[in-house]
Amino acid sequence: LKQVVSQHAHLPAETQDGQRVSLHLNLGLDLKQSYLQGLNIDGIGLYRSEIPFMMRDQLPTEDEQVEMYTEVLEQFPDKPVVMRTLDVGGDKPLPYLSLQEDNPFLGWRGIRLTLDHPEIFLVQVRAMLRASIGRSNLRILLPMVTSVSEVEEASRLIKQAYFEVAEEQGCAVGINLVQPQLGVMIEVPAIIYQLPALASKVDFFSVGSNDLTQYLLAVDRNNRRVANLYDAYHPAVLASLDEIARRCEELGKPVSVCGELAGDPGGALLLVAMGYRQLSMNSYNIDRVRWILRNVRSSTLQVMLAKALQARHPEQIRKMISNKMESIG
Ligand code: PEP
Ligand code: MG
Repeated sequence: LKQVVSQHAHLPAETQDGQRVSLHLNLGLDLKQSYLQGLNIDGIGLYRSEIPFMMRDQLPTEDEQVEMYTEVLEQFPDKPVVMRTLDVGGDKPLPYLSLQEDNPFLGWRGIRLTLDHPEIFLVQVRAMLRASIGRSNLRILLPMVTSVSEVEEASRLIKQAYFEVAEEQGCAVGINLVQPQLGVMIEVPAIIYQLPALASKVDFFSVGSNDLTQYLLAVDRNNRRVANLYDAYHPAVLASLDEIARRCEELGKPVSVCGELAGDPGGALLLVAMGYRQLSMNSYNIDRVRWILRNVRSSTLQVMLAKALQARHPEQIRKMISNKMESIG
């Protein structure tokens, strides 16, 4: 099977009836791996900027961050690179920042933390912008957004950073320093009901299905005692993903999925059926997802989705998907 999958690696990810899906890469520490060079991808859908922060014993300086981000942007010069601002807290501790909380997943994480420390946010965004001088592939993504005001505040800081950098570096605004597109992660359920309010403030959305599942089901994604309850195939999760796709379509805003579900071949099929046209995943899933998409028709996907949305239990959906996979080979 591996060989069959790799025979398709250079081909576009599209269904048999020509529905094209773009496949993006989630990037963390594996930046320097040689296998990335040969991967047929449409861009970086999620660069988890917190990972290099977690590997150090103090905050990287602005210059160090410029170096880190330059390395990523220059490796994919003609493809969009979505850099997420620092997403620490919850399950991602920083060794040099004390976070003692009773409910860390409901606490000080992601954008909440960085807006309380605008100096950290500003330095990071300045570094991203400096790294983007002379390029046009930087996109900025905000994690753990709950409210419109957070996006307004973050946008204000990004603008400030943009004009500071432009002036300091003597950049021609809009020419060798372009304003990066801004995106918001849909991972706190409250955001589903604020998409119209956010649409005019952002360029794209990206669904973090890992956290969305955790928060919709009120199940800690890392707690083994409740691991059996954490399930992205839960009917409520699928219904909300379907709803998000519809709402974004109505609003005319691009939306991708960058949680684990996008890299799960069965999950990818359901997401494409819902209307998602951008999926971002770990490197080892790219060619598997491409292959499975190249072996289905949209009409089949619609039948699968209709069944999945009617199912009462995740097991029914899994069974249906595994039957489908078997029939494909
Ligand atoms: C997610 O929550 O789905 C996501 C992509 O972000 P992370 O797993 O880094 O929280
Ligand atoms: Mg998340």
